[in-house]
Amino acid sequence: MKKLFFQYPLFLLLLLSLNKGVSQKTNQTQTAKANETIYAIKNVNVITMASSNTVVENATVVVVNNVIQSINGVIPKTAKIINGKEKWLMPGLIDAHVHLPVDAYFGQKLPTQTPDLSFNTQDIMTPIIANGVTTVLDLDSKMETFGQKKAIEKGYIIGPRIALAALINGGNGQGRIANTAEEGRIMVRNAKAEGYDFIKVYSKLNIETYIAIVHEANKQGLKTIGHIPNAFQGKLEQAFIPHFGMVAHAEEFSKNSDSFSVQDAIKFAKLSKDNGTWFSPTLTTMVWIAKQTHSIDSIKNLPSLKYVHPLLQSKWLTANNYVKNASPENATYFDNMVKFHFLLVKAFKDAGVPIVAGTDAGVSGVVAGFSIHDELELLVQAGLTTQEALNSATLLSAQWLGIDKQIGSIEAGKFADLVLLDENPLTDINNTRKIAGVFVNGNWLDETKLNAMLTDLAKRNTADKNKFDWKTIMNKKK
Ligand SMILES: [Zn+2]
Repeated sequence: MKKLFFQYPLFLLLLLSLNKGVSQKTNQTQTAKANETIYAIKNVNVITMASSNTVVENATVVVVNNVIQSINGVIPKTAKIINGKEKWLMPGLIDAHVHLPVDAYFGQKLPTQTPDLSFNTQDIMTPIIANGVTTVLDLDSKMETFGQKKAIEKGYIIGPRIALAALINGGNGQGRIANTAEEGRIMVRNAKAEGYDFIKVYSKLNIETYIAIVHEANKQGLKTIGHIPNAFQGKLEQAFIPHFGMVAHAEEFSKNSDSFSVQDAIKFAKLSKDNGTWFSPTLTTMVWIAKQTHSIDSIKNLPSLKYVHPLLQSKWLTANNYVKNASPENATYFDNMVKFHFLLVKAFKDAGVPIVAGTDAGVSGVVAGFSIHDELELLVQAGLTTQEALNSATLLSAQWLGIDKQIGSIEAGKFADLVLLDENPLTDINNTRKIAGVFVNGNWLDETKLNAMLTDLAKRNTADKNKFDWKTIMNKKK
């Protein structure tokens, strides 16, 4: 995805808030007991996603603050009861590929000046949370993303856990650019020092720089995810070096195949398997690209469009490159690519490559939160079982992110990132959309509350539509 915005560091602010956090901690500990919020979800069917792989029927799950205290343990007297009868409880979903919008600054500004365009952080997070997505991996984080993450952690905003990746590209664009091995290593060390969790490699890196980045990232304890640089065209196997952690799109493979054949899919799967590289196909992105190449109506009629910021709605509808380049040939090409991506998923599954659900939310048509359910549906269509699809967006994803001790399954001691469903997603993957409530960061948000949040957001977005015409605002930028 193309980067739209850039902004100024928030480091000083972060450091100041760090100090404040330390002095507040003592108070928090002293009053913790009195402030404890206890919930018991009774008579619920628990899809644990634990390695033992069990469903515990008609169980009681006790949550104290933001931690799972017990499954079928004692219910504390002060617990608020949630009726889980005939409902299904699963771990919060993880979207391992999102692009969270950040504020925009046009031209040169002092750090004390306010942005030209500002997005409300809660509005960005509401559709994510309302869809049961409690963790995201942001694959091109900015300083402001750190700010969004902190606001959520402190409880100012209800939102998901955010893992941050620093994108490194080659060529001469904006952002972190590295065109030599040494520059690549410096970029990785800088990203580590700034507090990033992951490195994202991008398409224009040259071969020596890419190799240096993957080596250095491993040395610094950071995993690498991303595109396969274009420089590896025709010699794809050379990109599969130790510690290249995950390929972020099925398209990275399809752009290296002329035939879109099963044989190619099997060959790519073997490359990944032999190298220990995981796979996040982002099927929904390519499905949406194909849809738009057929007709802009796909975007116009998208039910979740109203939850997208009006500026992005305007961009998707009026400055959409996929629509601009639409032709019957392109539409057929993308349709064939979608078919090949399904073949890839099947081949990677058969080869035993771990498959992680990611959606590239932020790409036109791919609405954060809603998109994870589309991805799960597509993964099942491509050949994953419902259990495997759920795993790809819960425990497996948490394992790759290195936080499976904290989240990813329903087990005592883990964070209570939970989704309550009206129906069983193991019998029909589309049941992940039937959300009765979400636990996140110590908040219990029932269906009524989630719907109210979404309705309010849609109302304001619709009311603000005329203020955010993409072309008018981009002209102002010039
Ligand atoms: Zn992306």
